[in-house]
Amino acid sequence: MPVLAQLLRTAAPCVAPAVWLCGIFVASGAIVNAQAALAATAVTAALRPAHHTDGGFRNPWGLPRHDDAPLGVTLPFFVRRVASSLGGNHGRPPRRVEPDLALIQEVNAARGNSVTWVGHSTFLFQMAGVRFLTDPTWSNTASPVSFGPRRYVDPGLEIDDLGRIDFVVISHNHYDHLDVDTLKRLSNGHTRFLVPLANRETLERHRIGPVVELDWWDSITIGEARIHCVPARHWSRRAVTDMDRALWSGWVVRTQTQAVYFAGDTGMFPGFEEIARRLGPIDLAAIPIGAYEPRAMMEPSHLTPEEAIDAVIALQALNSVAMHFGTFDLTDELIHEPPDRFTAASTAAGRGPDRDWVFAVGETRVF
Ligand SMILES: [Zn+2]
Repeated sequence: MPVLAQLLRTAAPCVAPAVWLCGIFVASGAIVNAQAALAATAVTAALRPAHHTDGGFRNPWGLPRHDDAPLGVTLPFFVRRVASSLGGNHGRPPRRVEPDLALIQEVNAARGNSVTWVGHSTFLFQMAGVRFLTDPTWSNTASPVSFGPRRYVDPGLEIDDLGRIDFVVISHNHYDHLDVDTLKRLSNGHTRFLVPLANRETLERHRIGPVVELDWWDSITIGEARIHCVPARHWSRRAVTDMDRALWSGWVVRTQTQAVYFAGDTGMFPGFEEIARRLGPIDLAAIPIGAYEPRAMMEPSHLTPEEAIDAVIALQALNSVAMHFGTFDLTDELIHEPPDRFTAASTAAGRGPDRDWVFAVGETRVF
């Protein structure tokens, strides 16, 4: 069913499209040398990290999988997604302001710290003279083809206004996070592209580079920044047969005075405490707050706004900034719902909007 498969894949790039693989699983039936194979597998398994598998990666915490939801939940969801991608209004987009390019330049010249929201999970960070982007996505659809989840609000910065970018971090290969058209425009020989394991080929196939591939807890130094690849609870897929073949991650960027955590895409998991323990204190956490309904499907891979505040508390982050909402219409909740719930949860937890920030698209803050 290539047409249906294409439709479903396109409609929901960052949600569980297990439905369109509901074909026939064929057992190989190979029995010869089974004992030897099992012994070899046991040795290999004992040596490898808990999040590595024979052909890919997994979430190692014994929590429910993203594709555990029943067909009665997933099929109607995909029908709703296809309908939504074809038209209609699914909520109020976030406010957009003209970017303060003078402020951004001023902070860079002073080797200070600032963050600018471009939209969805895309930020421009400046820290101690180092400039980097997170999951840069400037395309109008989060999709491998020209239809699919549409952009509700223009990017907060033009690519031509970015200036020098030292590196890009990418959290995983879903289409709303790894946007090949954008990465091609950013690829200039200077900017380095940091990806979790097994994502190199996706970039290099399009002549995007240089690429640096890292495993969870690996790190690299660029300028005055130490960049750490850290765990996330998520999954990956770009095509029909490549589920979980490429790793997903978050990133911590630390300079001599500040540390920023970019969570990528994640559900609730014990890694937040471990990241704080190993790499804290975290000054600013960019945390995803959208794409959480229906919960029966999304709970293993996306935080609710309330869980996002729980995560920020687990991280002991001084400040947080909300992301992954309002830009692409990915799931069932109205696109303006997540920030209201995020601020309410923050206030209820005794933190409030001065600590847990909701930006207008294009807004810059110094930290
Ligand atoms: Zn995703």
